Amino acid sequence: MRVVQIPTLFDNYTYLVICEKTGVCGIVDSPDAEATWKVIQKEGCDPAAILSTHHHLDHVGGNTDLVRRKKMAVYGGTNDSGRIPELTRPVKEGDTVQVGSTVFNILDIPGHTRGHIAYVAINEIPSPLGGDPIKRDHLHGGQGEGAVFCGDTLFAGGCGRLFEGTPQQMVESLTKLKNLPDGTKVYCGHEYTQKNLEFAKTLEPNNKALQRKYEEVLKKRERGEATVPTTIGEEKSYNPFLRWDSPELIGSLKKKETGLKQDPVSVFAAVRALKDRF
Ligand SMILES: [Zn+2]
Repeated sequence: MRVVQIPTLFDNYTYLVICEKTGVCGIVDSPDAEATWKVIQKEGCDPAAILSTHHHLDHVGGNTDLVRRKKMAVYGGTNDSGRIPELTRPVKEGDTVQVGSTVFNILDIPGHTRGHIAYVAINEIPSPLGGDPIKRDHLHGGQGEGAVFCGDTLFAGGCGRLFEGTPQQMVESLTKLKNLPDGTKVYCGHEYTQKNLEFAKTLEPNNKALQRKYEEVLKKRERGEATVPTTIGEEKSYNPFLRWDSPELIGSLKKKETGLKQDPVSVFAAVRALKDRF
């Protein structure tokens, strides 16, 4: 599996997931068919499926134009039936999607929207004996480098706004992502990292991993480079929306809200409310 990252609109990312064995590719979240198609032609891959994470127009706005150019399956969450254009294959947690030889597990991750799903690529590791590849199941703690396409649920250094869900739902969704192996690459829907980390620094000014990451991100942005993908392991070290058990983060929140409860949902909700006003 090879991932090609396409900047679309102002700060969106579209991804081509190319199966190197067959040349077939899947398109994750395209708002701009023309920009996506140019890269498909340049790569010389054969698009077989659109993998939509959620119904927002800046993720699915290219679907109709893309299926007009090439008839293909369109996947999306069952709870997004009727609002993802051209959806032909509604899927839910427990389902798998195959594009070429790449297999994705579906996770339901509501919160940003009620129909939001993630596509978790199952890593294939060549067998040392030359037989069939050993598939490592990334829902159950393999060690290899898998990948998750998580739309607007988890961002580098942040998470999506709660348009259609509750803090409780979002904590459950983020916990599913947090439980993926640390090496899992995080391919999210937007380039929001710098602003996200500036907010994170207000809550954990002494977090060394956060300081290092912020310096790295500033340099990348100066060079006009993408800061995505990151990894689950990295996100756990500095993303305030995954750090509901951090004493420094909780201490910062308590300075603003003395009666704050310390359970994950209350801590998450307090962080989200502050970020909404940042
Ligand atoms: Zn969205």
